[in-house]
Amino acid sequence: MSSAYTESLNRLIEELGKLPGIGPKTAERLAFYILKTERSEAMALAQAIGDVKTKIRRCEICYNLSEGTTCQICCDPRRDKGIICVVEQPKDVISLEKTGACKWVYHVLGGHIAPLEGIEPSDLTIEPLIKRVRSGDVKEVIMATNPNMAGDGTTLYISSLLRAAGVKITRLARGLPTGSTIEYASSKMLTDAIMGRQELE
Ligand SMILES: [Zn+2]
Repeated sequence: MSSAYTESLNRLIEELGKLPGIGPKTAERLAFYILKTERSEAMALAQAIGDVKTKIRRCEICYNLSEGTTCQICCDPRRDKGIICVVEQPKDVISLEKTGACKWVYHVLGGHIAPLEGIEPSDLTIEPLIKRVRSGDVKEVIMATNPNMAGDGTTLYISSLLRAAGVKITRLARGLPTGSTIEYASSKMLTDAIMGRQELE
């Protein structure tokens, strides 16, 4: 860090440089941008960063991101609560919602089962999902984990537990390239995968 900068400026460059995809040059450029921008604008940025860390929590029904005890999707009376779409991450909810083809509710697992990385089923929200399916009027569970080995393994594990609940279990169609992720699939591809979803044998 250059000693030509003040302490605060050095600290801002250092913090910005920790962000993914931001190299030292970009961090410097952003820091100078913030320095010369309107005070209100810079404070709005600081406030927005503070808010996502203090206001956002997990929906107590589906574990999606929320600012209240339950998220906007779970609170929406137009949603079919009888269909639960199971995804790995909140980002997957956003990708699926962008298709405009989803009238259901979600369940966010918080990742996938990966014993080699030390991620066991108990680290995910699988137990609350099973409880949810058992206690409600759920007629279909759509497995929308990523179409890669970890995602497939997770779907297999969950469907074996859900089978006893007597619910219909489907998974997104294989239009999605194997090994890919929901997050990076196009809306068109996801819509096809939703429409062509198939019942798990
Ligand atoms: Zn929710």
